[in-house]
Amino acid sequence: MGLKPTVAFNHLGCEKNRVDTEHMLGLLVQAGYQVDANEELADYVVVNTCSFIEAAREESVRTLVELAAAHKKIVITGCLAQHFHHELLDELPEAVALVGTGDYHRIVEVIERAEAGERVKLVSPEPTYLADETVPRYRTTTSSVAYLRVAEGCDYRCAFCIIPHLRGNQRSRPMRACRKWC
Ligand code: SF4
Repeated sequence: MGLKPTVAFNHLGCEKNRVDTEHMLGLLVQAGYQVDANEELADYVVVNTCSFIEAAREESVRTLVELAAAHKKIVITGCLAQHFHHELLDELPEAVALVGTGDYHRIVEVIERAEAGERVKLVSPEPTYLADETVPRYRTTTSSVAYLRVAEGCDYRCAFCIIPHLRGNQRSRPMRACRKWC
């Protein structure tokens, strides 16, 4: 079997998004992929985007455009992918995959399908997934810091807040899953 491709991550957004980045890294490492902090050395770059306010969207789009100019195979994940899932693949031909905030745990399958030549779109309209302690995680913070995400989403629909549209309804990790951080 040939060497699996190298995957780098460009992480944007909040620490909630960071936990998703760390789970994707963990899943890819467990599946035998090389991960590298250096985007220049990577075959694929996963951009875990933010879409909270205009400035965050601009930063996400700027990052995607820069990677497209560098001819990288781009996987768009995170909140911008969820928010603009109808148009992002059309807008960015260099993107090989689009993955929603409720689908990041399928990142290994996404890369496999992209490697097979498919342009992958995996976006649940209503994100419901929440990783627990059984999902591998590759921590990106310093050794004294680790984030424990105990809940995700929100059941309210306040007119000024986009979070439920990006992250789905409120769900919590069970107590058993909070005794271990990863
Ligand atoms: S949109 Fe909100 S939840 Fe998503 S990455 Fe940005 S700050 Fe985090």
